[in-house]
Amino acid sequence: MKSQDVRKQFLDFFKSNGHLIVPSAPIVLKDDPTLMFNNSGMAQFKEYFLGNGTPKSKRIADTQKCLRVSGKHNDLEDVGFDTYHHTMFEMLGNWSFGDYFKKEAINWAWQLLTEVYKIPKENLYVSVFEGSKEDNVPFDQEAWDIWKTLIDEDRIILGNKKDNFWEMGDQGPCGPCSEIHVDLRPEAEKALVSGKSLVNNDHPQVVEIWNNVFMEFNRKADGSLEKLPAQHVDTGMGFERLCMALQGKTSNYDTDVFTPLIEKVEQITGLKYTPNDVALSGVEESEEQNKTNIAIRVVVDHVRAVAFAIADGQVPSSGGAGYVIRRILRRAVYYGYKFLNAKEPFVNKLVEVLANQMGDFFPEIIKQKDFVINVIRQEETMFFLTIENGIKYFDLYSQLVNEGDSGKFKRLAGIELSNSDKEQGVFPGFFAFELKDTYGFPLDLTVLMAKNNGLTVNVDEYDRLMEEQKARSRAASEVSADDWVKIMDYGVNGVSTEFVGYDKTEEKPVSIL
Ligand code: ATP
Ligand code: MG
Ligand code: MG
Ligand code: MG
Repeated sequence: MKSQDVRKQFLDFFKSNGHLIVPSAPIVLKDDPTLMFNNSGMAQFKEYFLGNGTPKSKRIADTQKCLRVSGKHNDLEDVGFDTYHHTMFEMLGNWSFGDYFKKEAINWAWQLLTEVYKIPKENLYVSVFEGSKEDNVPFDQEAWDIWKTLIDEDRIILGNKKDNFWEMGDQGPCGPCSEIHVDLRPEAEKALVSGKSLVNNDHPQVVEIWNNVFMEFNRKADGSLEKLPAQHVDTGMGFERLCMALQGKTSNYDTDVFTPLIEKVEQITGLKYTPNDVALSGVEESEEQNKTNIAIRVVVDHVRAVAFAIADGQVPSSGGAGYVIRRILRRAVYYGYKFLNAKEPFVNKLVEVLANQMGDFFPEIIKQKDFVINVIRQEETMFFLTIENGIKYFDLYSQLVNEGDSGKFKRLAGIELSNSDKEQGVFPGFFAFELKDTYGFPLDLTVLMAKNNGLTVNVDEYDRLMEEQKARSRAASEVSADDWVKIMDYGVNGVSTEFVGYDKTEEKPVSIL
C-alpha cells in the first residue's frame, strides 16, 4: 500500500466514524512560550484540554507534522543510527474532547489496524498502565478489560509510569495510555522469543507505532488526583512506522516515504544505499558502507525537517528556532561532505523530489518550493566556505588530544589551555569555541565528530568562552551607544521633549556563521 493511501485510509476511517478532519498545524510555533516546534499531534489542541476554548468538533482527526529536536522530546541523536526515529515525522491522530472514551478508541484502533490495514493480529502487542502506588494512580483495569476482548492476554504488557502515563506538566490533565507495538521480526526469530519480555526491550524490529492516551484525571497543586469532569482521548501514530509495517519493510527508510529521496542521493553521489533487509540478511558490510548508509539516512531525514520548517516560515538563523534549523542543516551538510563525497551544495537538490512526493497532501511545500530551495542553497554555500578548513582544524586537534600532547597545542595554536581543557580524552572547549566562532560548526556537530573520535567535548569551558564573548560584544555595543547625544526638540508650543537615543543597543550577532 502506497504511503499516500495509508494516510488517506486513516483519515477516511475516522471521518466515517464522525471525526472532523483538520489540516496539520504549522511545524513552527510562534505563539507558544513553552514550545518551539510542534512535537505531537495534541499540541494544537492543548488549550481545549486545559478548558480554554471549544473545539470545532468533539471528534477530530488529522496528520500533524512534528519535529523532535529540542526540549523534552529530542530524537536527533538517534536519527540515522536507528531505523524508526526521525527529526521530522507525521503523527496521525484522533481526538475525543469530552466525547467517546477508552472503549471506542481501543476498538477503533484495533479495527483500523487489523481489518482496514490487515496487520496480522499475531504481530501486535499492546501495553496497559500498571498503576503506581507512589503516585496514587490505579492500574488501568478498564483498558485491560477492553483489550482482553480483542487480543490474547499474553500479548498485553503492563507498562510503568514512564511509558504508560501521560502528564502535560506538574499539574493539569493527565491519564494512563495504551501503546500498540508491531513485531516485524522474521517468522523464524519470532518462534524463538515471543511474549511479554519482548516489548519495550528496545528490539529494533519490535516497534511502538501508536499511543492512545486517556485523559481522565486532573493533577492538583498538592499532587493529588481528581477525576476530570469530562474525559478526553488523544492518540498519536507514527505515519512512517505504520508505512513500514504495511509495506513489509523493517526500516522506515525502505518505505516509499524515503526511497525517492534515497534514490536522488544515490544519483547525486554515485554511492549505493543498503536496504535494511539486505543489511539484516547477514551479508558482511564494510565499515565504509555502514557509514555511507548512516549518512544517507541522516541526509534524507534532515532535508525533510529543514524544508518543512522553512516552508512554514522558519528560516535558518543564528538564534532560537532558526538556529535549531541551521544546526540540522549543517549536520546534513557535514554528513554529505564527510561520508558522501559531496563537495558542493546538494541538500537543496532533494527538495524537488520531496515536493513531488509530499506536495499533494502538504501544498505548502509546493507553494514555497523555490524559496525553500534558495534558502537551503544559500545556507549550504555559506557552510561549504568553511567546512573543509573546520574539519582539518578538528582533525588536527583531536589527533593531538588522542596523542595526549598538550604541549603541541601551545606551539600550534599559540595559546595556553585552561587546566580543565587539558584532560585526557577531552576535546578542549577552546577548540569547540573556535570551531563555532570561526568555522560555523554548531556545538552539537563538534560533539558528534568528537564522539566518532572517541572523545568528549569540554562543554563547560565552551559555555564559559561563549559567555565571555557575549559579554565582550555587549560591552562593545554599550560603547557605541555613547555616540548618541541628547537632543532637545522644541516641539509644539515650545514644550520640549527629550530624546536621549539608545542607552543600550540590543546585542545582534553579526557573524554570518
Ligand atoms: P519512542 O518510544 O519510539 O521514542 P514515543 O513514546 O516517544 O516513541 P509518542 O510521544 O508516544 O512517542 O508519540 C506517538 C507516536 O509517534 C509513537 O508511537 C511513534 O509511532 C511516533 N513517533 C514518536 N517519535 C517519533 C520519531 N522521532 N520519529 C518517527 N515517529 C515517531
Ligand atoms: Mg520517544
Ligand atoms: Mg515510547
Ligand atoms: Mg509513546
